[in-house]
Amino acid sequence: MSATSLPSPAHLPVPFPAGTVLGYPRIGRRRELKKAVESFWAGRSTADELDTTARELRLATLRRLVSLGLDADDASVPGSFSFYDQVLDVATSLGAVPSRFASLTGADGRLDLAGYFTVARGAGGQDSRAPLEMTKWFDTNYHYLVPEIGPDTPVRLVDDRVVREFVEAKEAGVVTRPVVVGPVTFLALSKAADDAPAGYSPLDRLDDVVAAYADLLRALAAAGAPWVQLDEPVLVTDSVDVPFAELAAAVTSAYRTLATDLSVGATDPAAARPAVLVAAPFGGLQAAPLDDGAARDGLALLAGTDVDAIAVDLVKGAVPTGSAPDGTVPGLATKTLVAGVVDGHNVWRADLVAKLGTVETVRALGAGALAVGTSTSLLHVPHDVEDEVFGGAETPGTVLDPRLREWLAFADQKVGEVATLARALTAGRDTVADALAVSSAAVASRATAAGVVEPTVRERAAALTDADFARGSSAERAAAQQARLNLPPLPTTTIGSFPQTPEIRRARAQWTRGTLPDADYTTAMRGEIARVVALQEEIGLDVLVHGEPERNDMVQYFAEHLDGFAVTANGWVQSYGSRCVRPPILWGDVTRPEPMTVEWSAYTASLTEKPVKGMLTGPVTILAWSFVRDDQPLGDTANQVGLALRDEIADLEAAGIAIVQVDEPALRELLPLRRADQPAYLDWSVGSFRLATSGVEAATQIHTHLCYSEFGEVIGAIDGLDADVTSVEAARSRMEIVPELADAGYARGIGPGVYDIHSPRVPSTEEVTELLELAVKAIDPALVWVNPDCGLKTRGYDETTPSLEHLVAAARTVRATL
Ligand code: GLN
Ligand code: ZN
Repeated sequence: MSATSLPSPAHLPVPFPAGTVLGYPRIGRRRELKKAVESFWAGRSTADELDTTARELRLATLRRLVSLGLDADDASVPGSFSFYDQVLDVATSLGAVPSRFASLTGADGRLDLAGYFTVARGAGGQDSRAPLEMTKWFDTNYHYLVPEIGPDTPVRLVDDRVVREFVEAKEAGVVTRPVVVGPVTFLALSKAADDAPAGYSPLDRLDDVVAAYADLLRALAAAGAPWVQLDEPVLVTDSVDVPFAELAAAVTSAYRTLATDLSVGATDPAAARPAVLVAAPFGGLQAAPLDDGAARDGLALLAGTDVDAIAVDLVKGAVPTGSAPDGTVPGLATKTLVAGVVDGHNVWRADLVAKLGTVETVRALGAGALAVGTSTSLLHVPHDVEDEVFGGAETPGTVLDPRLREWLAFADQKVGEVATLARALTAGRDTVADALAVSSAAVASRATAAGVVEPTVRERAAALTDADFARGSSAERAAAQQARLNLPPLPTTTIGSFPQTPEIRRARAQWTRGTLPDADYTTAMRGEIARVVALQEEIGLDVLVHGEPERNDMVQYFAEHLDGFAVTANGWVQSYGSRCVRPPILWGDVTRPEPMTVEWSAYTASLTEKPVKGMLTGPVTILAWSFVRDDQPLGDTANQVGLALRDEIADLEAAGIAIVQVDEPALRELLPLRRADQPAYLDWSVGSFRLATSGVEAATQIHTHLCYSEFGEVIGAIDGLDADVTSVEAARSRMEIVPELADAGYARGIGPGVYDIHSPRVPSTEEVTELLELAVKAIDPALVWVNPDCGLKTRGYDETTPSLEHLVAAARTVRATL
């Protein structure tokens, strides 16, 4: 099945397939790769054994994709495997690793598997090497490794893993389309190596990198690959440091080499390189004005090159418009446009009739051929809805509402959707009439289903007024709170969680499985809370927490207690490396059947004279780490969660809790990639937090916690949240945020983290004192709180106890100087 009406250009041995997916999960439906990789790391298996497992997984994926409706011989099956990360794969394939890893590479510049993982994870002990830094991949919860590229970093194709995997698949009977991060995105996401001179940018190495990609394309052609996919998502974002004009120049230059020059002069152009698909997931390619008055037009840019196909994300992005008088895009007539209409980044079954409508509107752009695809790689969704258990309340284990079975589409279902749409395109709608009818029926049933729409929730949201989002003056609140709490200057506290010991984890797991009775579970958790309270009193902290022993995860806990959320049994998604998460699915209107945290907090307060801080996760973070509904604006969903939290906070307040912390570590994470979309986001995200927190008395103190240190675009939002106290990660940046806030006129409580909880190192009292001194010099000391960077759940008590003792000692030292 090939793309419709493509007057197959002479150099294309195989026209683009009519339907494809941009990538597929690689961790395995039972997390086989995770288990194999971790076993290798632990020394329980050899590199050969890991290779064998990975190969079996790749071959099983090929068979699966073909059985789901992709064609075995038209390059519609993506080759998107990775042992750890696709950006790391490019770096290591090019031998472009920082010099601290040079001794790990062989004479040919190649890393073996152990070396590859060392670049990803670092090495401790005598042979200590810092790993590459990790950061978020566009607007997903996937994290990639940031390459370090300097003027002297080696760049040469040293590892033909991509070619070997193509050959492996071909020998197994499937002609795949290898998927590689594109050269411009690779460099734009890289950071300059430490020893690079001022003014240097990794993009300065574009020619070298492109030359290596040219070698890769030649090798793929020689192996018989008809198509290759190069991902250039950097074209949809404003949030890389490189101005669009520079990206545009890099794209033009890179694809002149890779698409034009490689074929020119070749005796057999078809054999000189594979046809090139450039994919731009995670946002739109539509034209948009830039700050400097120029315009960005990613589609026109790509259409102006000699690449053979362009994949656009029509879920996050709008259908672009063409600049020619007839509305077409100059240059597109010789290319296939892959309409990314099936959402690769969320779990809902598509409205196939609507999707076909979108594909029809794309025809106006004048592409030589049209194909359908997913908007992004399917890496970001779980494998298969059929791996879940659906049933009634009587079914044991994690069960989903049976209606969700027909509303959801995970990776495998999405492959089926693409195959159906492709068939509609090539053979006519009539040939898939049944599938279209089933899709429409599912969409209709979801639209009006009980639970999806709860009239009481809608009525409450509709009745909200500005007053529901506002508290009184913050200065008056501060006075009322101080009168109630009577805290010393520089009050000390923690961010919420204490170390999760094996005993706690075991008790929670047994209780979830049903093997530990409720009463025993409560006793175990209360015992832990009492222990943590006693420890905090001994250490001398001023504001105590309960330690969060009952929480498996700060979002899942609330998803399990709120109606409108589902928690899956096997819905794993790769977060980074071997780490997988199981995001809850927010499918209906949100309600709180009963209080979620009040008993634990009230019990904690009964154990101590000191103030106890209640602990909740904020609406934005709950949304950010869940799959969210796609049938209403995110802001409406956030307000529903906000209202449920507002009720919880009222109950905490009624139970005598004087301080409530509402964590929003993901506030920055959901910030849209396009600057133009950011003000609207900040408006609803900050609004939902305020809705959650503004129902309380002036004397009740609201805290929030933000979990990153680069504030940039969200610094204004910190004030906008109107929390009384905000704790932030600050140790590694040496309190940088504090003077920034002071400059912005910030006058609320601020708890800049005084030690980095990501490392097991115990900070000395002197170090903490030094950081605190920086803080009190930069801002009014009356505003400063003393706390670690983040929660302590991943740490052990060996480190936690002395670290907190040093924190308290430092606070006392600096207090004495005020
Ligand atoms: N209260 C949470 C904890 O301490 C906050 C975690 C976070 O910011 N990621 O674990
Ligand atoms: Zn945090």
